[in-house]
Amino acid sequence: MDVSDILDPLNDAQQQAVSAPLGRHLVLAGAGSGKTRVLVHRAAWLNRVEGASPYSLLAVTFTNKAASEMRGRIESLLGRSAAGMWTGTFHGLSHRLLRRHWREASLNEAFQILDSDDQKRLIKRVMRLLEVDEARWPVKQVQGFINSRKDDGLRPRDIGTDNDPYTDRMVRIYAAYEEACQRGGQVDFAELLLRSFELLRDNADIREHYRKQFRHVLVDEFQDTNGIQYNWLRMLAGPDADLFVVGDDDQSIYGWRGARVENLRKLTEDYPDTRVLRLEQNYRSTATILNAANALIAHNAGRMGKNLWTEGKEGEPIALYAAFNELDEARFVVDRINQGLQQGHSRSEFAILYRSNAQSRVFEEALLAHSIPYRVYGGLRFFERAEIKDALAYVRLVNNRDDDPSFERVVNTPARGIGGKTVDALREHGRATGLSLWKAAISALEQRLLPGRAANAVTRFLALIDTVAEQVEGQPLADTFDTVIKHSGLRELYQKDNDDRGESRLENLDELVSAARGFEQEWSTDEQEMETLTAFLAHAALEAGEGQADDWEECVQLMTLHSAKGLEFPWVFLAGLEEGLFPHRMSAEDPDRLEEERRLCYVGITRARQHLTLTWAEKRRIHGEERWGAPSRFIREIPEEHLQHVRTRVSVSRPQMAIRRGLVEQAPPDGGFGLGQRVFHEKFGDGVVVRYEGQGASARVQVNFSMVGTKWLVAAYANLTPA
Ligand code: ATP
Ligand code: MG
Repeated sequence: MDVSDILDPLNDAQQQAVSAPLGRHLVLAGAGSGKTRVLVHRAAWLNRVEGASPYSLLAVTFTNKAASEMRGRIESLLGRSAAGMWTGTFHGLSHRLLRRHWREASLNEAFQILDSDDQKRLIKRVMRLLEVDEARWPVKQVQGFINSRKDDGLRPRDIGTDNDPYTDRMVRIYAAYEEACQRGGQVDFAELLLRSFELLRDNADIREHYRKQFRHVLVDEFQDTNGIQYNWLRMLAGPDADLFVVGDDDQSIYGWRGARVENLRKLTEDYPDTRVLRLEQNYRSTATILNAANALIAHNAGRMGKNLWTEGKEGEPIALYAAFNELDEARFVVDRINQGLQQGHSRSEFAILYRSNAQSRVFEEALLAHSIPYRVYGGLRFFERAEIKDALAYVRLVNNRDDDPSFERVVNTPARGIGGKTVDALREHGRATGLSLWKAAISALEQRLLPGRAANAVTRFLALIDTVAEQVEGQPLADTFDTVIKHSGLRELYQKDNDDRGESRLENLDELVSAARGFEQEWSTDEQEMETLTAFLAHAALEAGEGQADDWEECVQLMTLHSAKGLEFPWVFLAGLEEGLFPHRMSAEDPDRLEEERRLCYVGITRARQHLTLTWAEKRRIHGEERWGAPSRFIREIPEEHLQHVRTRVSVSRPQMAIRRGLVEQAPPDGGFGLGQRVFHEKFGDGVVVRYEGQGASARVQVNFSMVGTKWLVAAYANLTPA
């Protein structure tokens, strides 16, 4: 490979960044300007020209997917394996450090990662033991408190309570939770970072070892680092490290999780010799899309200021569709995708982006109805499904008997006569003796603390786990899962479920076995320090959601705006642009949060390469309630000249305007009801049709119900019957 292979595909500014002399560099540039590309080429440059071995590179990316892409791109630039390279997310890399140095980090060797759900469950348990009232101290709030303190690098002893009863109580729960984690060998996400930070801070020899190893530190999406991540980086990147950081203040979207865009400025203060480089040419989007994005983000104050231009084509206008409800919105989007597919585009060219996870379901249903394969990226996660978590918990318990959350999860799943009372007794005994639940169970049996039937059931459960442990000893990973699923009774449990859900749960369990098989085959040799099983369990916790992307290429992509960061698609549908939903209603009042929402919208728009469609719905059923929506202010902030209102059916796409103008359609909707017709609706009762508009699937009728007054209904969904 030639140096020209590294530099030729870049413009002048990019080349300068990539070939800059060693030192500290911050590339501050807008969306689609090639930051990630420059980062990858820099890594190749360091290797090729500066003679850096892949081992001496530490590259931090935002998602595991981005990390593996980076590895792949570097490998193809170098033409050989970059397996020794440390690329990954902050969490993934922290995890790797802790596995290597578990002893120095005061962890037990088989420590497990708690995901957010496990964490909540454990906090709940701790609160019960402390007799804290959950109604007054919501678990979620406690979880938020603990995680944000950890993100600030604070242990319970570091937090001054000033005798404030609220803080005092929170700190006590935090302390008890910490103890429970330590006892059970559990590490939550925030702990991964804090613990590895402390490891480096408190062990000069380890720190020096890595500072010497990682001569070159590269960071993508730097604008979204939080306090602990920044300090973690500083631990690894010593004062002399070669530092290459890329970011965009306009795409900082994790402020709500403690990310600090000020870190961009802090970096230039902490490393005063940092050179700031800028890239201004956008290579991703059409001029129309880029201009719309620039105009939108210009509404934010306090930006670092960037000028982004493109040589690309003007492109088509941005389509704007006003749906009457979320079903109509989904139907419209899926129709468009269908048209694109019929023109020969591939499914992976299409992405549907939304503000809130709950919005995915309606799209999923519409896609299913058209048999279009799709993936929900980062949404309903494979590894978070109940049956998968059950199976994983069994395996975790087999692997580490002191894993209390796993013990609790499976002790009575499937039901085996170990009721809440028995578990409470074990918990109580565990607390009194300082033992894990597993050991508390053994001790309670020895001391005959449990009534006969419960004791028998618990004995059988302990024996079951021990037997499974013996059986899986030395087995390949996939067989381990197979054995566990069979012997735990999980398979039987779901076989008894005769409905579709049981069926799909069984499929998921099968999928887990094949995921384990795939993992075993692909498991990279550079992480040999972990056992395969441990690595897989960590993978399940860390990569939840991303793991399902194995046939990523074949599917329409669904994801929240937050998970779309850094990605790009030829066709983007940005859905749910309504006040209250996006910007989120919790953010509309607070100027800082509103600006973060606007940055999120900027991220969404700039994911699109050629085709962008914005949609909003006048009426939406979400989170179990029905709301009337007004178009998002973000739509208004895009100059009208870039937009094209889609009016498939004039009066239908803007029905409110039609009503305002007093328009009433002339013909009754096909197969529908005539004016004055008496109808019956299951929920609203009897009524009379007073208006209608639109045709076919999207026809709407207004009915005057005797009980509830007038209502607009979508004829196709309303299930009206002639009365
Ligand atoms: P984001 O802010 O969204 O993360 P980015 O700044 O990281 O964007 P990239 O993803 O690196 O941008 O690049 C955007 C697109 O432009 C990619 O498809 C990339 O391959 C392409 N690109 C970047 N630089 C060039 C170039 N000099 N010539 C041709 N294409 C380029
Ligand atoms: Mg990028």
